[in-house]
Amino acid sequence: MGSSSNTNTPVLDNFWMPFTANRQFKAAPRLLASAEGMYYTDVDGNKVLDGTAGLWCVNAGHGRRRIAEAVERQLRTMDYAPTFQMGHPIAFDFAAKLAAIAPGGAGAKLDRVFFTGSGSESVDTALKIAIAYQRAIGQGTRTRIIGREKGYHGVGFGGISVGGLVNNRRVFPQIPADHLRHTLDIERNGFSKGLPTHGVELAEDLERLVALHGAETIAAVIVEPMAGSAGVILPPKGYLDRLRAIADKYGILLIFDEVITGFGRLGTPFATEYFGVVPDLVTTAKGLTNGAIPMGAVFASRKIHDGLMTGPENQIELFHGYTYSGHPVASAAGIATLEIYEEEGLLTRAAELAAHWQESLHSLKGLPHVVDIRNLGLVGAIELAPRGGAPGTRAYDVFVDCFQKGLLIRVTGDIIALSPPLIIEKDEIGQIVSILGEALKRAA
Ligand code: PLP
Repeated sequence: MGSSSNTNTPVLDNFWMPFTANRQFKAAPRLLASAEGMYYTDVDGNKVLDGTAGLWCVNAGHGRRRIAEAVERQLRTMDYAPTFQMGHPIAFDFAAKLAAIAPGGAGAKLDRVFFTGSGSESVDTALKIAIAYQRAIGQGTRTRIIGREKGYHGVGFGGISVGGLVNNRRVFPQIPADHLRHTLDIERNGFSKGLPTHGVELAEDLERLVALHGAETIAAVIVEPMAGSAGVILPPKGYLDRLRAIADKYGILLIFDEVITGFGRLGTPFATEYFGVVPDLVTTAKGLTNGAIPMGAVFASRKIHDGLMTGPENQIELFHGYTYSGHPVASAAGIATLEIYEEEGLLTRAAELAAHWQESLHSLKGLPHVVDIRNLGLVGAIELAPRGGAPGTRAYDVFVDCFQKGLLIRVTGDIIALSPPLIIEKDEIGQIVSILGEALKRAA
């Protein structure tokens, strides 16, 4: 492509874009230049309402001065320091602050925190901790992990193995894993408001996989309490409790991947509290730093952590970690983010807006091509019937149309996903629904 005719467009050839149809995008790019509050501004000066909190991560909205100032202060004070056999106070401070709001509730808090650089790293870290823990307690044959169809757990080899999205898997080799069936059932649960009624029995798949593989080969089961990336798939009522009970019965650890649901998305700090089910490990990233600086964190129960704090005290307990684990600048961004969440009540704000959000989204029922609408907390999905022979193209066209009209949505196949920043006001919810509704009416 070389240089562009539009002076606002940079040379596009060199950046090999992730999860993008590169050639299609570069032929008609969408370029964002700045962001403030609920809005992006593109390179041509058009405002775009952020209906997706970036990629489910900018929970406190864009351009937060407090985060910028904390990052600048930390960069000037100490840009980087290792956390291998060394430490710096700010990473410990951040872990202690996270421990105070850690998933699990009183008495069962998962308050031991392992820092990573992303959601994918958090997932691979949690899988490795689970396998290492099983070995440490004399269960070394437990190396298999159970995931779920349509699950998304990032793009590491561990994450794609337990994930259940075929395009992310088919090209690459995988670690030993098997999968529960997914819980999407439009026939029985279509247009449910909140959690679907049907499908609790799908949790029994874990029993089936135990019978197939032997409990002594299974280290853990990992699920997103609410699956986001596959197009917002909700757990049927009682499903997660059932999964916890079966996992306990067979000595299998339960991991919740809360990379999307963590930090207020459902109206509680973590989905763990929303569902009242306490797993052994929780993976997070995204909202941890409001998306401003890459960082992830795995929350572990004391049972898991202490189970690995064995052997001679001068020996490393877990041979795992990243150059950027507990990065001082990311920690500074994270602490500032937590302060904003707390001061503005953002970790529970979705609960206040959920009923209004639900009714607003469900007002789109009956528009052309809409075959299902799903919602929970400040998450929504509108599923469209695919065009014959061209799956995904209809939702993509709606995505482009919305963008041109000033709204950012996200599409996966023919599912439109919405997850606005938690600072959203009711009139902005109205704008989302009206721009999207008009685009749906225009969609061929
Ligand atoms: N796990 C879940 C549930 C996610 O939604 C994502 C990203 O969307 C990831 C893991 C991967 O996170 P990252 O892209 O930061 O590696």
